[in-house]
Amino acid sequence: MSYLHKVRIRTVGTRREMQALGIQRIAIVGGGISGLSAAHHLMEQAPGCQMTLFESGSRLGGVISTVHRDGFQIEQSADNFITTSPWGLDLCEKLGLTRDLVQTNADYRRTFVVRNGRLHRLPDGFMMMAPSRFWPLALTPILSPFGKLRAALEYFIPPRRDSSDESMAHFVRRRLGREAFDRLVEPLVGAVYAADMEKLSVDATLSRFRDMERQHGSLIRAMRHQMKSRPVEEAESGARYSMFVSLIGGLSTLVDAIALRLPENSIRLNTRVERIERAGNIWRLITSATETVGKSAPVCPVEFDAVIVAAPAHVATRLLASVDAPLSFELGQIDYSGTAIVSLAYDVQDIGHPLDGMGVVVPAIENSPILACSFSSRKYPHRSPAGKTLLRVFVGGARHPELAELSAAELLPLVLKQLRPLLNICGEPCFCDVAHWPRTMPQYHLGHKDRIARIDARVAELPGLKLAGSAFRGVGLPDCIHSGQQAAEQVLADWGR
Ligand SMILES: Cc1cc2nc3c(=O)[nH]c(=O)nc-3n(C[C@H](O)[C@H](O)[C@H](O)COP(=O)(O)OP(=O)(O)OC[C@H]3O[C@@H](n4cnc5c(N)ncnc54)[C@H](O)[C@@H]3O)c2cc1C
Repeated sequence: MSYLHKVRIRTVGTRREMQALGIQRIAIVGGGISGLSAAHHLMEQAPGCQMTLFESGSRLGGVISTVHRDGFQIEQSADNFITTSPWGLDLCEKLGLTRDLVQTNADYRRTFVVRNGRLHRLPDGFMMMAPSRFWPLALTPILSPFGKLRAALEYFIPPRRDSSDESMAHFVRRRLGREAFDRLVEPLVGAVYAADMEKLSVDATLSRFRDMERQHGSLIRAMRHQMKSRPVEEAESGARYSMFVSLIGGLSTLVDAIALRLPENSIRLNTRVERIERAGNIWRLITSATETVGKSAPVCPVEFDAVIVAAPAHVATRLLASVDAPLSFELGQIDYSGTAIVSLAYDVQDIGHPLDGMGVVVPAIENSPILACSFSSRKYPHRSPAGKTLLRVFVGGARHPELAELSAAELLPLVLKQLRPLLNICGEPCFCDVAHWPRTMPQYHLGHKDRIARIDARVAELPGLKLAGSAFRGVGLPDCIHSGQQAAEQVLADWGR
């Protein structure tokens, strides 16, 4: 890979030498997009600082991973990002990637939902958990007449006065009724966050819907108001697909572009940070090499003036155990779910369904092992060669954690058995690719925002320590990019730059 030439152990000078030269030494733990964006920001804002990024894996990018096979482009996890938050687009611009951005295919910006084993179009204009059109909701076969009536009554239901946090399930049932929750919202939101909606915090996850309720009295009223200034596309439904983009070369292009801009010798792959210690203003990292097959070889402690921890919270809790017990405790309380993604390449003629959408979501009440299936090469046509199609099936999450751990050999028959009747598939896949993502999706459970406030308060007491990553203020790529940039900014602010 393009950044491998940078991977060499570098010698860190003594603190006195560094101080004499006015150089600050910064460590970043974790080479996912959060750690990388922190590193990139530091290099932009303070090119003189000595930065070292430690990554336990053999490649950069963390959850982001694009592979190419037989003319297919397979995103093994994240496959696009939202543009309503500016940080993803801004970073692409800084990296000269703006011309590589691609939008979702405008012909297919709709979602299907499974009901009783069959695919139905999500009502046009139904966006995540709010209907914006009357007739598609009135005519959908997904809800019973009672379910439709109850959803329409949302218009008249007064907003909740209590300002305390609420679970996503409670919020949606209260506003739209049980059936709309079970059949429409749970599969959509549950698939995006791989989450249990009974535990997911509405304030921490999709607070804009809570704001809509507060400002307009109801979600339907709020959607009608929004439609005046920003109409939803005629047949759009599900996620706001028109607001998502990807990169023509795959999302790993973003990772590679950052890595290329980081200084020589600043990246240490295959190096796991085992522990972080604090001695006054000095931060000591105890690392081990992970490239030695079977066992970890010990490496000397390395000293820094500041450290940005951009590893998952379940790792950070361990690393910081001896630094600050309450902080470590709070980090350890952030739950994670895992998923497996099965990518299936097919000849187009082997699939009976026209695949005239972005994909299908499966409600929990359907009792299927599949969470969702994205029609990946419909969403972004460059992902498959002519005459072929690429599907991505999501398994596991908080709904079926045990399935995310199955081997490829165990998963494939399970997935194919579900998918064949759903999409009317008659042939065998040209090939399959299975990617496992254990404990990668933080779950913003009830009270998450309060927990983050407590974490912030502890971190404020520890000069030189900053946290970044998906565990805190958003799991989407733009939020992770922002969290890395903010952590870097705070380090520089501490030093008065
Ligand atoms: C399956 C899946 C699909 C997703 N799809 C989308 C999507 O389409 N759009 C979107 O916007 N977001 C999506 N997300 C969310 C988004 O991809 C992630 O939230 C984001 O990539 C997380 O980045 P991160 O850097 O915070 O964490 P990670 O990517 O997890 O990076 C953390 C890094 O730290 C390293 N590390 C861990 N422990 C140590 C240690 N002790 N020492 C050194 N290094 C260590 C890890 O190896 C890893 O590389 C998806 C997430 C998942 C799991």
